[in-house]
Amino acid sequence: MPDALLPPVAEPTTAARTVQVRPRTEGWQQQRGADGRPLLQFASPKRGKPPVHLADLTPEERRARLVELGLPAFRAGQLARHYFTRYTSDPAEMTDLPAAGRDELVQGLLPELMTEVRRFTTDRGDTIKFLWKLHDGALVESVLMRYPGRITLCVSSQAGCGMNCPFCATGQAGLTRNMSAAEIVDQVVRANRVIADGALGGKRAGETTPERVSNIVFMGMGEPLANYNRLMSAVRTMVAPAPEGLGMSARHITVSTVGLVPAITKLSAEKIPVTFALSLHAPDDHLRDELIPVNSRWKVDEALDAARAYFDATGRRVSIEYALIKDMNDHGWRADLLAEKLNARGHGWVHVNPIPLNPTPGSVWTASEPAVQREFVRRLEAAGIPTTIRDTRGKEIDGACGQLAATEA
Ligand code: SF4
Repeated sequence: MPDALLPPVAEPTTAARTVQVRPRTEGWQQQRGADGRPLLQFASPKRGKPPVHLADLTPEERRARLVELGLPAFRAGQLARHYFTRYTSDPAEMTDLPAAGRDELVQGLLPELMTEVRRFTTDRGDTIKFLWKLHDGALVESVLMRYPGRITLCVSSQAGCGMNCPFCATGQAGLTRNMSAAEIVDQVVRANRVIADGALGGKRAGETTPERVSNIVFMGMGEPLANYNRLMSAVRTMVAPAPEGLGMSARHITVSTVGLVPAITKLSAEKIPVTFALSLHAPDDHLRDELIPVNSRWKVDEALDAARAYFDATGRRVSIEYALIKDMNDHGWRADLLAEKLNARGHGWVHVNPIPLNPTPGSVWTASEPAVQREFVRRLEAAGIPTTIRDTRGKEIDGACGQLAATEA
């Protein structure tokens, strides 16, 4: 048959692309406020405060704390060295401290903040998810991942979360409480200890250099910018040179948010050049109002303006996180609209990380088809937007973003 007589090849995706799946919860009820909209919790419920720990304090405050406890101030530096460089809070390992009063000294500045409840290992030992119990029984998680050339820890910043995103296991139960700065930092110190003990797999044969967490992503439980002051105190301790802190590079710390605009503006003024990630997931308010309830407070354009201002203030290229969800937000026109909105704010300031969701048969929250993912990326790239599909390591153990809901079961 001559070509002209062949039936036109139907664009297989055209019909599918007109489908609009709306976000909804599955198997649980989203809490609603008096106005009928999904409830947003910004304030942390009042609960007993965790014990004050060295990692909550500046070096001066640590010394003052020891004096307050009737202990010699100069010991603060020794304790900091043990904690930040040897990853220990065990008095038995601190043989440079006088035996008399050592336990009181350690208890005074390094009280136990969390106990390990469970450890799940996957990816042939390269990924470990930790379940921690805090002093008041609240549960949080962190996920440790080895990649070529780096070791990343995904940390929690709140127990639970008040942002109520309909796809998110963490958001279901609401906000239990803000974590203290030391509880945030302790996740890193504990992970470093696990690495030092050789429990993270994948180390190259013959490799003898000491290893530790090199990259932090605030993509565990909680909305980091809703716990702003403690987040920033933790970040300052992470970047403070050893032995006063962990001596990490701010560039290797990624703070992500669903778009708390005033807090993004504050972060821009901090002069700590962390990597900033905006979890956008939709370029239009119509969809994003449902997908990310906080969009009812700060709209897409406001969040993008704040993200661009972050770049202007820090020179750090901003990441836009975009989970690709079948027939919900993966339409070609949405890729075009996203590119248009980003380009309208200039070039070279942003890149997009599409995140392929896990295929979940029967769920509205399921993976975009591979061809649709490719088309989404193609459109962004054609519009000049640097785009990298993100690894979703940890998904086998429910450790991927938005899937952290700590249970002891
Ligand atoms: S997706 Fe993030 S911001 Fe939304 S409820 Fe879950 S943890 Fe909170």
